[in-house]
Amino acid sequence: MAKKYFLYLVRWQLSTPILSLVLWWLSGMNVLLATIIANLIGGLIFFWVDRYIFRTISDEPLWEIKEDAECVDCGHVGSGYRIVEWFSYNRKEDKNPQYRCEKCRIKKMVEVREKMTEKPQK
Ligand SMILES: [Zn+2]
Repeated sequence: MAKKYFLYLVRWQLSTPILSLVLWWLSGMNVLLATIIANLIGGLIFFWVDRYIFRTISDEPLWEIKEDAECVDCGHVGSGYRIVEWFSYNRKEDKNPQYRCEKCRIKKMVEVREKMTEKPQK
């Protein structure tokens, strides 16, 4: 959490040069209007930067939860879970999503983590 918070503070500072440049450029304009324009420009840029940062540094997987799902591993019917996105693991467009029960999802999480940290073999 401390690392994420630090990165967030660094990222926040990245908007400083853009903000000051735009405010300098619009210095003849009404302060409020110039600030609105500067923030608009910053927002247009940092929406993509933030999206990238929060997707790639999130150490928690993005889960989809489905009720009355059958666990693909043990057959238990109940709340089913599947990892949708986690670092390079992406199953957003999965045509046949597989759900797992509370118990089996932990095993799958370990498996996915191992797959992600495996070095590519040549
Ligand atoms: Zn299960």
